Amino acid sequence: MLLGWVHRVRDLGGLLFIDMRDREGVTQVVFDKDDEPLMAKAKRLRSEFVIGVTGRVQRRSQETINPKLDTGEVEVVVRQLAILNEAKTPPFPVADETPVSEDVRLKYRYLDLRRPRLQQNIIQRHRVMAAVRRYFDANGFLEIETPILTKSTPEGARDYLVPSRVHPGEFFALPQSPQLFKQILMIAGMDRYVQICKCFRDEDLRADRQPEFTQIDVEMSFARPETIFTMIEPLMREIFAVIGVEVATPFRRMSYADAIAKYGSDKPDLRPGMEIQDVRDLFRESSFGVFKKIVADGGTVRALVVENAAGYSRSAVDGIVNQEKSQGRHLLWARRAEDGSITSSFPKAVGEETVRQLLDGLGAGNGQLAFVVAGEPDATSKTLGQLRLSIAKKDGLLDPNRYEFLWVVDFPLLEWDPEEKRYVAMHHPFTSPLDEDFGKLDTEPGAARAKAYDLVLNGSEIGGGSIRIHDAAVQSRMFSLLNISPEEARLRFGFFLEALEYGTPPHGGIALGLDRICAILANESSIREVIAFPKTATAVDLMSSAPSPVESKQLRELHLKIDTPQRISARGQEAVADRVSTVE
Ligand code: ASP
Repeated sequence: MLLGWVHRVRDLGGLLFIDMRDREGVTQVVFDKDDEPLMAKAKRLRSEFVIGVTGRVQRRSQETINPKLDTGEVEVVVRQLAILNEAKTPPFPVADETPVSEDVRLKYRYLDLRRPRLQQNIIQRHRVMAAVRRYFDANGFLEIETPILTKSTPEGARDYLVPSRVHPGEFFALPQSPQLFKQILMIAGMDRYVQICKCFRDEDLRADRQPEFTQIDVEMSFARPETIFTMIEPLMREIFAVIGVEVATPFRRMSYADAIAKYGSDKPDLRPGMEIQDVRDLFRESSFGVFKKIVADGGTVRALVVENAAGYSRSAVDGIVNQEKSQGRHLLWARRAEDGSITSSFPKAVGEETVRQLLDGLGAGNGQLAFVVAGEPDATSKTLGQLRLSIAKKDGLLDPNRYEFLWVVDFPLLEWDPEEKRYVAMHHPFTSPLDEDFGKLDTEPGAARAKAYDLVLNGSEIGGGSIRIHDAAVQSRMFSLLNISPEEARLRFGFFLEALEYGTPPHGGIALGLDRICAILANESSIREVIAFPKTATAVDLMSSAPSPVESKQLRELHLKIDTPQRISARGQEAVADRVSTVE
């Protein structure tokens, strides 16, 4: 018996065709007009009814073969039909991919999930998870669950809190990551840990973040960065094999400093090439006073070459320059036309010879165009980096079928927080400094680099990790740099600091963002398309309408009083109605 949903009904008077759908796809079934009782029953069928049919499989006639369907060469001539359930008319058609507002899709997620696109995405996500588990099992990793009701963890976001009924006034935090637990598992001798786990971060959601998301969380004892890289690269090969893509290893590596200088980003998209080049030496002694002074004051001059500038008319270039100007950034350009003649927006006084030298130095040949910015080094690269990406997008240089992996390494250990006027950990406070930068912790902590790395794919950070501090004294030193008092450290991480003192092996790890990886594999720009039940950008589940008010009895049991009465009165549907249109 073939079981499934009525996908489409085609009533041709004498003949009645039904496309039946199940997880595997669509099959055409046909009813014979001569069987009147059967035909009468079949006429009742509407989209999304659940049916079972038995019958005879026959080849379709040559003209009726449907090459779009896997099963398009055959059809089932129905002998028996069972209507297992009826369905209301769905709020949007399941059978085709007509665009539907995302709010409606999320409210009726079960219908959305029936559509082929999400079916495929979810099936593919399962295959990825299965491949991940197979890979780590084969490499001697143990999948170990860590608690969901736990203590605040150190990723630097806001915690989701869960009040304790039995301990009035006390709270669990949902884990922002299993960071401390996986490190403790190394102390516990588990050696190689993996977990496909949920993490919870109560952040003001930027587009495409989710309050709960899934990580492939990994930790290894006796690991150096290289140990992690050589374990993760073949994993990526296995993951991409799911979509039939062969990934070349080893991946490129680039220091954080280089990534910022050459691409203006710590997650550069390497597909378009177009490295930012530093040309300050040309202007150190030049006749161009403005640039000369910027360089003398410790600034720099950087440039970007558009290799195929045919599409960049004078007015298009002016448009780009004006766009930057409106953001307070001053962009100059120089061009070598197809016939070799040179034009530029440099002041006349600079002279054509300098502009020619500039283009020569940049390797910009005929038909090429350079954009140039002077100023503080990181800022110049940031400006050019954004320009680079917008040019790449516009010129179609971001081929979705090319996968450029990159390890960005040697991140700064610390970041200055101007609001709090103190250093914060760039990765997290358990990250080890580079051996050669230990001395800098005393002299210039802001310049110390960390054994921290990110895995970047086509401009998205798909993972990040570090080698950890395994020495209690170094850990205390780190806390003092972060202005965390010994008392505060004891309160927040005391259990972990104590564990560190019982023979901690050197260790390190990484966490990979499963949602983002699945979105890239499915060629989706939003991770919501690869999560079965995602929340909106304002952290609401439109299907179950969570979060929602609770009974006062529950609050009393938890010893909680609510301070915002208006919200409590906006119960149920009203509260939900307010939230529709919250998807970014
Ligand atoms: N816990 C880190 C994170 O969630 C990853 C790691 O350091 O392994 O970003």
